[in-house]
Amino acid sequence: MAGIDAVLTIDLGAIAANWRQLAAAGRMAGVVKADGYGLGAAPVARALRDAGCRDFFVAHLAEGMALRAALGPGPMVAVLNGFPPGADEDAGLVPVLNGLPDVEAHAALGRAAGRVRPAILHVDTGMARLGLDAAELDRVADDPGLLRGLDLRFVMTHLACADEPAHPLNALQARRFAAARARLPAMPASFANSSGLFLGPDFASDLGRPGCALYGINPTPGRPNPLRQVVTLDAPVLQVREIPAGTTVGYGAGWTAERTSRIATVAAGYADGYLRSLSGRAAGIIAGRPVPLVGRVSMDLITFDVTDVPQLAPGDAIRLIGPGETPDDIAARAGTIGYEILTSLGRRYRREYRGA
Ligand SMILES: *Cc1c(COP(=O)(O)O)cnc(C)c1O
Repeated sequence: MAGIDAVLTIDLGAIAANWRQLAAAGRMAGVVKADGYGLGAAPVARALRDAGCRDFFVAHLAEGMALRAALGPGPMVAVLNGFPPGADEDAGLVPVLNGLPDVEAHAALGRAAGRVRPAILHVDTGMARLGLDAAELDRVADDPGLLRGLDLRFVMTHLACADEPAHPLNALQARRFAAARARLPAMPASFANSSGLFLGPDFASDLGRPGCALYGINPTPGRPNPLRQVVTLDAPVLQVREIPAGTTVGYGAGWTAERTSRIATVAAGYADGYLRSLSGRAAGIIAGRPVPLVGRVSMDLITFDVTDVPQLAPGDAIRLIGPGETPDDIAARAGTIGYEILTSLGRRYRREYRGA
């Protein structure tokens, strides 16, 4: 049997090009949390490093440890969720300090060790999720001695509505961040995520933190995507069968053939991140032409109506994700965002990295 694995192709050259395009505007980190948005943190980060990226963000300590091993000692590896003092076991990870208790704990370790500890100070300006709140900022601003023992590389904040340029919270967060910075010791700032980089000069900072845009998700929803697509997913046709009009396909008998139809059964399903909510809403692509997904998405299989593509045969591939059916397109059909499509991509694909 030919080609029974679905192939996920990740264009590292496109990721590097996307980073370079953003980095033309200033120093840019690479956000590679959640295993590089599902695409593989180590190969993605090495490609970014080779393109010139020196600063990386992950969410979890374990992701940071793995990334340090993949990248070696040079680049900054910052951990957005923070970690207890010393938990990085001298891997040189940089904790993001998300509240006064984090500040106190890491500063105390620095003072006890007699050397300053690198860290990033996170100020909340409108997410109410992580970061120093107003009262904690007051404490630190009134007593900068609380920061003794820390080598604060950046002060950062995170935008809540960057993908909605007209949302008033954007400008409010910019004002709050500027006000917070004015009350803290002078240090570089890190402000915008991918979408924030497109909001204008008030959102520029010493270090941008793009994630999704590197991976081909449109940071400017409603406008053309200024960046390159990264992911293609090709899944093999296991069988093609002809069914008479009136035959139902799949669980729940969710689709009924209105004519004599040819149904291609393809080896991918919701266990592979092809969301069940796509049932009846998505299309595959054969030689540039869309073919409708019919019937319910099941765990390991999906079915397409290929009546109008008579040459299709078992072993051929149907493209599930690619330039004509982007992660953003699929997300819109599934009622979610491209981020969730990428981070849901399954473990069963054969992964091929191009352009390294
Ligand atoms: C995930 C994340 C980013 C990257 O966001 P994108 O929208 O993917 O560019 C930046 N900063 C923080 C704090 C994050 O959690």
